Amino acid sequence: MKKIGVVFAAFLLLFISMPVGSTNTTIYAPDGRSAIVSDESVETYLSLGWYHSYEDTVSTLYTADGRSATVYKADVPTYLSLGWYENYEDTVQTLYALDGRSITVYKSEVMAYLSLGWYKTYEETVERLYAPHDISILVYKAEVPLYLNLGWSRMPHTGPMVALTFDDGPHGQHTDSILDTLEKYGAKATFFLLGCQAEKYPMQVRRAHALGCDIGNHTYIHPNLSACSTDRVRTEISRTNAIIKNAVGEEAVFLRPPYGNHNKTVRSSAGMPLILWNVDPQDWNHKTANEVANHVIQYARDGSIILMHDIYGSTAEAVKIIVPALIKKGFRLVTVRELAEAKGTSLAAGFAYYGF
Ligand SMILES: [Zn+2]
Repeated sequence: MKKIGVVFAAFLLLFISMPVGSTNTTIYAPDGRSAIVSDESVETYLSLGWYHSYEDTVSTLYTADGRSATVYKADVPTYLSLGWYENYEDTVQTLYALDGRSITVYKSEVMAYLSLGWYKTYEETVERLYAPHDISILVYKAEVPLYLNLGWSRMPHTGPMVALTFDDGPHGQHTDSILDTLEKYGAKATFFLLGCQAEKYPMQVRRAHALGCDIGNHTYIHPNLSACSTDRVRTEISRTNAIIKNAVGEEAVFLRPPYGNHNKTVRSSAGMPLILWNVDPQDWNHKTANEVANHVIQYARDGSIILMHDIYGSTAEAVKIIVPALIKKGFRLVTVRELAEAKGTSLAAGFAYYGF
């Protein structure tokens, strides 16, 4: 009986608080409260931030790791400040693979996927390749080796190009000077490293590699390989390749035999192509920077491989003259690998190349 009395009293109270003839509506506040008000006053409440329906007072929020929560709108700013998102789309990101696949992952997982070889943009997964006569196509990077085998090239075929090559380094100061010049002009070169020098100057090896230069193998300690046993040839090459891999994460894929000397034993033991040269300014032979530069600029032809040494200050100075002069003459300065590709030559182990 007591309970009925309370309910009756509540009805009575409600009845006498309402104008006669009016009906009531339940409204909701953005912080979870609700109230029953007369229809006449609803508009006033709405203008004060109340809502007609409970659903309007809550929002669903999302986290970058896939969680979601429904909270009162009054709490939304607090949640946003804690790193929650209003839109599911903001919590996910699409990533791309080198073979054309794509996936959508939570943002909290992005770093893990990048370390697995996924990329943030589609543009990073494709590369433009060229055929003769200005034809070019975009292909997925995973397919690039297949296209190169079919005769496509990473560089347009038009225009002359040469490969500057530097032996016997790296040398700290002079190699850095040459890399400064290459970087300034957006040019590339190929460095045939001695293992014993690469051990001392791994920073220069890494910098050359990062600038897109090719790293080649010039043996560990510069012996005349034609006078070496098969075992010695192999050890000189493998020891140096281990040092190169340690510095840049991958081995050299071609050899320059010291003094340019090679015989059948060297070629068959090398396990990689031999890269020689067809322009030699003899920069080791007490030449001035101008003498070295003049020789290179005069004799450079489309497809030339140019021999220099990055252990001489005069050579580093000559490079400052050579690079802009060759560019002005219309040459592109590319790596040995790019030059071979552009000329449609696939480099084969055990063969010697003097130019392309
Ligand atoms: Zn040498």
